Parts: sequence; structure tokens; C-alpha cells
Amino acid sequence: MRVLIVEDEQALREGLTDLLSAAGHEVVACEFGKDAVAFGTEQFFDLVLLDLMLPDLDGVEVCRRLRRARPSLHILMLTARGSEDDKVAGLDAGADDYLTKPFAVRELLARINALGRRAAALPAEPEILEADGCTLDLGRLEAVREENIFKITPREAGILRWLHRHRARAVSRGELLERIWGSSRDLQTRTVDMTIANLRQKIERDPAEPRILLTVTGAGYAWGGDEER
Ligand code: CA
Repeated sequence: MRVLIVEDEQALREGLTDLLSAAGHEVVACEFGKDAVAFGTEQFFDLVLLDLMLPDLDGVEVCRRLRRARPSLHILMLTARGSEDDKVAGLDAGADDYLTKPFAVRELLARINALGRRAAALPAEPEILEADGCTLDLGRLEAVREENIFKITPREAGILRWLHRHRARAVSRGELLERIWGSSRDLQTRTVDMTIANLRQKIERDPAEPRILLTVTGAGYAWGGDEER
């Protein structure tokens, strides 16, 4: 699953990132509520692990905004408070479930698996882009060109979605790292270049002459899929 972790406590954020990555999930992590709202509304996630006490926005407010933007998103609230009121507020704001800190790792993984089973049972809205003769199905994680089907990763789909959404401008490597990978790892811009190079092999007619994922010298990358040629 693709999981967004929203937790301002660094040790816990990193611990959860490592734990869920090791369990095979793709993780984006952030510290602030406003970033959580941006990530959660702009990208696709199966699940959000949302801390209730954040330095800027209250977790309940983050939950409300995510729920409004993405009605089918699964949200698991993490709370250090034992108060029933907070749990009720979280559930009222649209959280699917909550876990009181400190929690056992096994308990967390069991809850995530349960939400994942529910998520898998729900049909998602189709999300399809047509670009230079290639059909990009971001929901099913497939690129289809001339009856050849290539699997793409959730991260690759995130890059395509982000570049397409911001197609009026070039997007820097730093922005892609920040928006698609999140603050979950110390990453280098070379990671972006390698990911784009791989993706071009799957979706471009000629990866050496890209028409969908354009390189913009000195700036980064830009969406070229819609251009008239
Ligand atoms: Ca906190």
C-alpha cells in the first residue's frame, strides 16, 4: 500500500517509515499538518497514519480536510491522549480508526492490514492520461503503448500525476523529491534522474528522444504529453 505518515516526533516518524517500508509499503512521511493536507489531496494514498497533536494544524482538522478531498481515503489516527473526547472528535472528523500511543508494532500492522483489506474491496475512480500515443492508467499502475502493457510503480505514477497537474511550468528535481518522496529519507537529486530514466523506458516511444517527460535544462522536468506536434 501507499502510506502517508504524518508525525512531528522525528524518532517515531522514522521508526514508522522503516517499519512500513520493511513490510513492503511505499511510504511518504511529513511533519506538518499543512504538508499532510497537500500530500493527501494532491497524491494518491491508500492510507494515512495521522498524529493528532501536530505543530501547526490540529490532526482533527487535517483529517477533516483530507476526508473532504478524498472521501475513500483510509485514515488511522495516532493519539497520545487517552481522552475519549479526542477519539470521538477524530472519528467524527472522518478517521476510520485510531490507535493510542504507545502502541505495539504488531497491533499497528494488524490494523493497517485490516484497512488494506477493506481498501482492496472498494473500486477506485479511474485515473487515465493519454500522452503521445501512450495510455497511462495511474489507478491501475499501467502504461499501454501499442498493446504492450508496462507496469509502473506508485511513485512513478506520482511523478506523472505531479508533472501533468503542473504542466504549465517546469518542475525541479528538488520539488519532485519533496512532493513525491517526502521527507522520509535523505535523498539526492540523482534518485529523481534515475527514476525518470526508468520511467522513460516504459512510456516513451523513443526514450532517447522523450516527448512525455521532457528535460528542461537548468530547471528540471516538464510534462510534454499534451503538446501538438
Ligand atoms: Ca505529535
